[in-house]
Amino acid sequence: MILPNCDDSRSASIVEHMLKLMGRPLTLGDRDVTVSTCIGIAQYPRDATNPETLVSHADLALHRAKVDGLNRFQFYQSMMRDRSQEDLQLDTALHGALERNELHLVFQPIVRSADRSMAKVEALLRWQSPTLGAVPPACFIPLLERNGLIVPVGRWVLATACREVAALKPGQGATLRLAVNVSARQLVHPDFVTDVKAVLEDTGLDADRLELEVTESVLIENAVVAADVLRALCRLRVTIAADDFGTGYSSLSYLWKFPFSTLKIDRSFVSALITDNHAKTIVSSILGLADDLGLSVVAEGIETPIQFEMLKTLGCPLIQGYWTGRPMPMAAIKEGMMAATDTELVRTER
Ligand code: C2E
Ligand code: MG
Ligand code: MG
Repeated sequence: MILPNCDDSRSASIVEHMLKLMGRPLTLGDRDVTVSTCIGIAQYPRDATNPETLVSHADLALHRAKVDGLNRFQFYQSMMRDRSQEDLQLDTALHGALERNELHLVFQPIVRSADRSMAKVEALLRWQSPTLGAVPPACFIPLLERNGLIVPVGRWVLATACREVAALKPGQGATLRLAVNVSARQLVHPDFVTDVKAVLEDTGLDADRLELEVTESVLIENAVVAADVLRALCRLRVTIAADDFGTGYSSLSYLWKFPFSTLKIDRSFVSALITDNHAKTIVSSILGLADDLGLSVVAEGIETPIQFEMLKTLGCPLIQGYWTGRPMPMAAIKEGMMAATDTELVRTER
């Protein structure tokens, strides 16, 4: 769309109006459907002086709007161009990273607040690039999602993590549960449930030791398919955790639409716990709600003993964070379990 003689505030009000119009439900047969819209805006002559660059900058802004969520608009900013060049460099390096053995997993302990014994471990993906060094997951996982590589990489993560946990011997955490993150593209992939089943069979890991973590955004974008897939996984006896719970759109109806077993309270609430009474109230409400619904709760991002004690006092059963254990190689998890068994810190592993 070309809007002549338009400054930023006028173009913003026009596109806001367009988003509102586009968002109206349409009736198709006996179903109401909605169309989601994202808009990117570039302005002549500020952002570019030729049509090709202007359109490509609007496209970059559109891309940014899509990453931010549904029904949004974004103005082009020059940092987007730098960002997209960086992304391109990362994207190139990421292709073939799995085949070149540049990816590995670390495992972060999830401990019981009662006695700090390890109940689960969460598998977290790491990329050590020979040219770029250690790239943070927050930078490369969204790229994997965009370029579709998350499907084969996610399959590798699941198989590797299950194999490592299934190989734990008595005294090393033979009953530890395993949590694995699953992204939207994996979940809606038609082979996902079959793949999970095959991995469990191949590795010999008991299905009820596996928990798959999904974030709300995964469910919002793919609600109908996701609900079916999650139910099929539950039929395998795999459990489902709502990751980063409390952020995003947090529609409470999700708690009964989707078969969760665990809520993972987002780190942002934990870090505000001591200084902000509202955060404390939200955490204790989530704990109450989970208790009434028969769900387990993990609080994420515990960095201090004070946060730990407060969560324990509030009745949070499971804790994950740098203070109780950083992400580490599986060998260190085994050592930790063996040391805990020696000192009888771990009474029961479940
Ligand atoms: P997540 O699933 O919420 O994982 C927890 C993140 O919080 C991890 O970051 C972990 O290192 C970090 N963390 C744990 N304790 C603390 C703490 O006390 N303080 C702070 N500041 N951070 C803490 P990481 O490893 O960088 O992973 C970031 C996100 O990337 C994960 O968030 C998850 O959404 C995604 N991710 C990681 N591995 C995978 C994977 O294999 N597949 C998919 N699809 N996503 C993954
Ligand atoms: Mg997670
Ligand atoms: Mg999380």
